Amino acid sequence: MSEIIHTYDELETLVAKSYTNPDVATLRRAYNFASKAHEGEKRLTGQDFIVHPIAVAYKLAEMGLHVNVVIAGLLHDVAEDTSIEIETLKQEFGEDVASLVESVTKLKHSIKYRGTERYAENMRKMFLAMASDVRVVFMKFADRLHNLETLYGQPKHKQQRIARESLDIYAPIAGRLGMSEIKGEIEDASFAYLLPKEYERMKNILNIKVREKGAYVSRIIDSVEKTLVQTSVTDPQVHGRVKRLFSLYKKLNKYQGDLSKIYDLIAVRIIVGDVEECYAVLGLLHKQWRPVPGRIKDYIAQPKPNGYQSLHTTVFTENGEIVEFQIRTQEMHDLAEYGVAAHWRYKEGTHKPMKNTRWMEELAQIQKELQSKKDFMEQLEIMKIDVFKDRIFVFTPQGDVIDLPEGATAIDFAYAIHTEIGNKCSSVTVNNSLRNLDIQLFSGDIVEIITDKNRRGPNPDWLKFAKTRQAREKIKDATSRTVKGWIAGVLKGRERAKKK
Ligand code: MN
Repeated sequence: MSEIIHTYDELETLVAKSYTNPDVATLRRAYNFASKAHEGEKRLTGQDFIVHPIAVAYKLAEMGLHVNVVIAGLLHDVAEDTSIEIETLKQEFGEDVASLVESVTKLKHSIKYRGTERYAENMRKMFLAMASDVRVVFMKFADRLHNLETLYGQPKHKQQRIARESLDIYAPIAGRLGMSEIKGEIEDASFAYLLPKEYERMKNILNIKVREKGAYVSRIIDSVEKTLVQTSVTDPQVHGRVKRLFSLYKKLNKYQGDLSKIYDLIAVRIIVGDVEECYAVLGLLHKQWRPVPGRIKDYIAQPKPNGYQSLHTTVFTENGEIVEFQIRTQEMHDLAEYGVAAHWRYKEGTHKPMKNTRWMEELAQIQKELQSKKDFMEQLEIMKIDVFKDRIFVFTPQGDVIDLPEGATAIDFAYAIHTEIGNKCSSVTVNNSLRNLDIQLFSGDIVEIITDKNRRGPNPDWLKFAKTRQAREKIKDATSRTVKGWIAGVLKGRERAKKK
């Protein structure tokens, strides 16, 4: 992956062009602030440090995230590498920007584990960070991407570690969030360092194929454009897209290296106005060319688990050449490229944490996938990672993540939220069904505690199924207080009786 160095002016031009009424003055102020803070600092690549925050901010602007996120991108390393306090940022750039920078900085400090533990810890921090503000995760992706692009500046052992971590942790999370653009970039950049020979081989295959098929696909694109212009389809956009290297590598492995089985080395993408037009275009293509049986996929009616929507079809064109088409609306396209970040694109004033449990449940699913993984990871001989080996992640109905040990029950969850919730809890719903308090919880469960404000305190029997130290201590505490109170009461009663 080659590094493109952007200047601040290029960033400002991008923001001014793609945002409505962006606060360019504050953006510039943030740039000046960061330049001063990082003055004299160099990256291992030999460049001035400021190149990095500009690159990160540029990526965030490309993703179309709120200007505050772009500003925070410019400032994301000032609290880490310089003596600047978060308090100063709050005064200069407001609460929102300061809190973004703070969260990103905290996330960095949490990474101090080695080996397997590093992975587990990282993954967990990602989760927790997401629960509080998903924009922090986008910032982490942008930061990581630029660090991957400049990985050549790092010593060899660090290159391997960072590339592995990116492929094992960042890429799957990006995938789950439906951010295929970022997932693909992270994968390819990591791939280059982890399996350099295979990477070169894939590059050669693609180069040859693009040279072979490129002119042909261009003609197909022209022909489709001409056909569409004669229809009522509004402003169709037709373009080619070349498969990514790591994606090709995985697919080739799946087909035992048989390149002829891979139809989407170069695919043609058609972006139209609405869903009806998607189906209309599919019909037009099938009228012109015979579809390959079994290769028509309607991801509009049945989206992929990460929300991906498009119509896919593969057809035999004139010379017996096989071409894959992907048909979608602009909205579906944005969602496919940017995933959940698409919801944040160009929405001025939206900067509340995202409290949507669907995608969080998806994330909990990563755990299961990483654990049962028997594919390329093992071929890479990456150590078996038991991310979250001993932890589960459970959600409140509001979407907050509660991190508990494996085997934890509803009573542990109640105490993890608040001591009073624990002390006063009477029953629980797990995924909307009423359950007993001793029910064991699993990652992805949505749990709601029902409290009874008249309740005196915890039941000592709860100790039979409370697993966390926190819950056990609180229960013991409260019950011994009750027992002590009772004994004291009895003694007092006796005293009184004696006196009589
Ligand atoms: Mn950074």
